[in-house]
Amino acid sequence: MKQKCYAVIGGGINGLAVARQLMLDHPGATVTVFEKESAVAQHQSGHNSGVVHAGLYYEPGGLKARLCRRGVALLKAYCRENGLPYDECGKVVVALKEEELPRLDAIYQKAVANAVPGVRLVDQNELREIEPNCIGIRALHSPQTAIVSYAEIAGRIAAEIEEKGGSVRLNSPVFRLIERESRVYVELTGGEVHGQAFDYAIACCGLQSDRLAQRSGDELTPKIVPFFGQYYVIDEAFKTHVKGLIYPVPDPRFPFLGVHFTKRIDGQMTVGPNAFISFGRENYGGLSFSVRDMADFLGYSGFWKFASKNLGASVRELKTVVSESAFVREAAKYVPSLGHVGVAPAVRGIRAQAMEGDGSLVDDFVIRKQGNIAHIRNAPSPGATSSLAIAEYIVREVMPQSAPSLALV
Ligand SMILES: Cc1cc2nc3c(=O)[nH]c(=O)nc-3n(C[C@H](O)[C@H](O)[C@H](O)COP(=O)(O)OP(=O)(O)OC[C@H]3O[C@@H](n4cnc5c(N)ncnc54)[C@H](O)[C@@H]3O)c2cc1C
Repeated sequence: MKQKCYAVIGGGINGLAVARQLMLDHPGATVTVFEKESAVAQHQSGHNSGVVHAGLYYEPGGLKARLCRRGVALLKAYCRENGLPYDECGKVVVALKEEELPRLDAIYQKAVANAVPGVRLVDQNELREIEPNCIGIRALHSPQTAIVSYAEIAGRIAAEIEEKGGSVRLNSPVFRLIERESRVYVELTGGEVHGQAFDYAIACCGLQSDRLAQRSGDELTPKIVPFFGQYYVIDEAFKTHVKGLIYPVPDPRFPFLGVHFTKRIDGQMTVGPNAFISFGRENYGGLSFSVRDMADFLGYSGFWKFASKNLGASVRELKTVVSESAFVREAAKYVPSLGHVGVAPAVRGIRAQAMEGDGSLVDDFVIRKQGNIAHIRNAPSPGATSSLAIAEYIVREVMPQSAPSLALV
């Protein structure tokens, strides 16, 4: 039987994981990754909290819940087999006020439904045993939540793809995918069409995913709206005040997890990320902006609907954007001994968050297939945790169905 040819667009952790999975499941297949940057993992996969989420928050039965749990097992094994650091430092989600308790309990119920190992609710004394400097009236403890370097893992997967005979083509921005008579052609920016015709293509383009999808004939929505998250590194002398990961109970009015203390795999302790609209999809410098990217969300009616519904939360986040001390104060509510700690700005991440036309943020992963082309249209956190499982899902469940037009959400 003739071996198939696959094109994967995007050299973030998801695209690389998909390419690797194709090579594992279809030995002898031709697999080519097209990445627009000069190195892999230059966007979300290289700018995140580095947390291996255990599966606490996700709607039981949804793709996120399923692929996160499976992703943890695959990622842990991958790190062990490849000698990559994996630190099960544990995490607490902390309630400071009575009104947060029902929400904390709801997270606990979801964690149990998602079969997250070892998770339990603890009182303030037990919390002190786990995190001696943390205050709170009740907390959820997830002992197996871990930290890794996703950039390092992505780099290892890219090397493995090449060792297995695949190719990772850097500096190769794809303009669109064209399907003709069951063959997929890759048109690069500038008009050149790559010499090889492919049987299938899988686009994993993160912050640019809606644009490539649209240009390749997929639906207009959901659109990507970028939200940045700023991190700060805390003074070396204070980093032992936090042992693992300390998270707030998420605010239901806002879709992100809230500013948290995150231990990094390199031993640094960071605080962040906040969440605010980014004036560019790939502008990591605080003051820079992209007219094209701004015009894109300002011209989207969904964005205005979102903005009007989330004014209060946006004001709260804005305080942490304009004032470093407000940022630290927010976090120090959980660890008062860090109230006056010195911080230095660290990396900023930009989330590729899909938004519907009605202003709602798409919560679950969205992977859509049309003909022989599949697009990841939404893979926010825990997208990196889930990457090896997302890859299995795409290669084993999405791609084999070669019906002419099929939507999977
Ligand atoms: C601030 C922040 C914190 C996060 N924290 C966590 C966490 O702790 N744990 C967790 O599990 N997840 C976390 N996430 C989410 C996680 O980082 C993402 O889900 C994951 O990295 C997505 O990987 P990806 O490969 O889909 O996208 P990306 O890493 O963004 O990769 C997309 C790639 O496609 C390339 N590309 C785009 N367009 C084209 C084109 N036209 N042609 C060629 N190449 C193209 C880009 O250059 C890029 O390399 C966080 C994200 C952010 C932003």
